[in-house]
Amino acid sequence: MALFVQKYGGTSVGSTERIKNVARRVAKYYAQGHELVVVVSAMSGETNRLITLAKEIQTNPDPRELDVMVSTGEQVTVALLAMALKELNVKAKSYTGAQVRILTDNAYTKARILKIDEDRIRSDLKAGYVVVVAGFQGIDEANNITTLGRGGSDTTGVALAAALKADECQIYTDVNGIYTTDPRIVPEARRLKTITFEEMLEMASLGSKVLQIRAVEFAGKYKVKLRVLSSFEEEGEGTLITFEENHNIMEQAVISGIAFNRDEAKITILGAPDHPGVAYQILGPVADANIGVDMIIQNVSHDGTTDFSFTVNRSEFTNTMGILKDKILPHIGARDVIGGDKIAKVSVVGVGMRSHAGIASKMFRVLAEEGINIQMISTSEIKISVVVDEKYMELAVRVLHKAFDLDRAQ
Ligand code: ADP
Ligand code: ASP
Ligand code: MG
Repeated sequence: MALFVQKYGGTSVGSTERIKNVARRVAKYYAQGHELVVVVSAMSGETNRLITLAKEIQTNPDPRELDVMVSTGEQVTVALLAMALKELNVKAKSYTGAQVRILTDNAYTKARILKIDEDRIRSDLKAGYVVVVAGFQGIDEANNITTLGRGGSDTTGVALAAALKADECQIYTDVNGIYTTDPRIVPEARRLKTITFEEMLEMASLGSKVLQIRAVEFAGKYKVKLRVLSSFEEEGEGTLITFEENHNIMEQAVISGIAFNRDEAKITILGAPDHPGVAYQILGPVADANIGVDMIIQNVSHDGTTDFSFTVNRSEFTNTMGILKDKILPHIGARDVIGGDKIAKVSVVGVGMRSHAGIASKMFRVLAEEGINIQMISTSEIKISVVVDEKYMELAVRVLHKAFDLDRAQ
């Protein structure tokens, strides 16, 4: 008999009918004698609804109070699921993150899990209960409620699986696995039977929101067996995240998937003096304002000046432009700062890149053939990312998906 942590996302618990379906699936595993910890998200749309409410009161809602409020979405679904299980004569108990004591740091709205007190869960399991835990939330040292960032229930699931040394963490969602790209954008996308942990980490960090990146990080750190499956299908193996690379090069696809991200904005400082320390003078105040920078490009200098571009999260665009105009530009004596938030990042990901040359040139050729201009490029060992005009993003994803044969079964 095994211990499973199952996580059900917002769509999967989007109505009482669907919650009853989840209960039926859990009951099936329970009847087979397995131990079950079930993590649920808020009903789909609920977290957004709550955030909108808060913004009707405060344009920038107080983070502590926002977390007190948005954590209620998950408190509703755990209770409903526990009720649905009891209706099926399954012993069940629901808990909020604070009740379990999922200890986090105090970074409201994006807290990190530090420690999980799993004793109560273990004793409930021993007593034959299904334990239902609210995703997305925890509590800090000073007993403040915290939340883990959008999509954070995935991380609750994986962290619980790590703490309990579960046999498998199953992420049930509205697709039946990890696809070569988001099937909502490319209908020809295919389900992958397996994906390596490194590839999944890149996909998640490059914008594939099917798993929260911290969930993937946790799985890597504690070697949690992690599987993504559909909550709407009775059967199906989903996609397993693996920790070993496929050493049979012939079987290894060069590219495993394509990720994209609209959440970025690009900023360029024109005519920055080209001498030591300027990059620091520009990015230091940005970092001090706790703004993360993604891609960075500096041009060759002419006349002793250079153009310096970087990207930030779109929600930080106005803030960053303000800092540059007020604090940086007058200080370093650059000519101007320009920027735009109508960009998107498109990335091809695959461990097979390590052993194949020419992937970047193929990617650039395919985009050129469609007349898509590349504004920025960045690479790592297993990914190539380009920034393009947002209006070409979907086209870029589709043509790359086809060019790299991702629509064909391997
Ligand atoms: P949940 O509410 O269950 O957490 P999410 O909406 O967070 O579900 O994640 C599932 C969605 O992720 C899918 O509906 C799909 O549109 C999207 N997605 C993006 N990239 C991928 C991918 N590579 N494979 C599968 N789904 C993806
Ligand atoms: N309910 C939260 C959100 O919408 C957490 C989650 O669903 O994972 O982001
Ligand atoms: Mg999600």
